[in-house]
Amino acid sequence: MQNSRQGRASISLVIGWVIVLGGFGYYFRAPLSDIWQRIQSGVLPCVQPITYSIGTFDPKFNISKSDFIASIKQSEQIWESQVDKQLFEYQENGGSLTVNLIYDERQAATQKLQKIGVVINDNQSTYNSLKAKYDSLKSQYAQQRVKYEALENSYQSAKVQYESQVDYWQARGGAPRAEYNKLEQQRESLNSQVSILNSEQQKINEMVETINALATSLNQLAAELNLTVEKYNTVGSQNGGEFQEGEYRADIQGREITVYQFDDRAKLVRVLAHEFGHALGLEHVEDPKAIMYRLNQASNDRLSAVDLVALKKRCNILE
Ligand SMILES: [Zn+2]
Repeated sequence: MQNSRQGRASISLVIGWVIVLGGFGYYFRAPLSDIWQRIQSGVLPCVQPITYSIGTFDPKFNISKSDFIASIKQSEQIWESQVDKQLFEYQENGGSLTVNLIYDERQAATQKLQKIGVVINDNQSTYNSLKAKYDSLKSQYAQQRVKYEALENSYQSAKVQYESQVDYWQARGGAPRAEYNKLEQQRESLNSQVSILNSEQQKINEMVETINALATSLNQLAAELNLTVEKYNTVGSQNGGEFQEGEYRADIQGREITVYQFDDRAKLVRVLAHEFGHALGLEHVEDPKAIMYRLNQASNDRLSAVDLVALKKRCNILE
């Protein structure tokens, strides 16, 4: 949920002084994006609505494109209803701001955890309960692995024994009836061991998926809550970087909002409203209930008093 892109400026279309500013973009990201806002929205902010269009829309989220647009309009209203001004305007194509919905492991983890009834909020208590689940599941996973390996070892040795018996009797042109029946029983027992192994393997795979989803969400929360903890490792794969549910980026190539993850519609609207706030040129505020707080942890769908003060200041609206 930050509002800048790190010096990725293309210099092809740019007038001289913007090149200079672009060069400093990495060090002075906020001022640069601020200047770019002003270029985009004219000299005065909030006078012309910021037009926006949908860019990438990933259908893997359980939301239709029209619902997504409706959510964006709802988040637009959060700002506009407070100052009775049109600050944003949807445009089918060619808006100055592109809004993307991109599916990656963040949302995959969220959906996986939703299935087992875990609701993720950006707060310490969610973190603690996810961590407890992660720890307990990791120890269950370790036990499950031990159990699986023991079953597999006994299967392998029974199989070796069976095969050597079969070879023995085949070399002698066939087994007597009693031996043959014994071997058939062994074969059936081996088959049922295989199906037990498969179902144990399935349990392990499900645990791995859940552990990985928990690790992904824990890493995300740790980054958002600024916790100094070691990275949670996923099992059997390397992923799970630092996370942000959404992002606003502005540079000389344009402006875009990208949403990567949301738990439910209310959270989506809040993420969009937060990124819209950055698009208006607002920075984070220190009120945990605010739309412009750095974490999406409250549930109000209105601006807080602190947000409103920031908006009015930004738009030069006198009290
Ligand atoms: Zn932010």
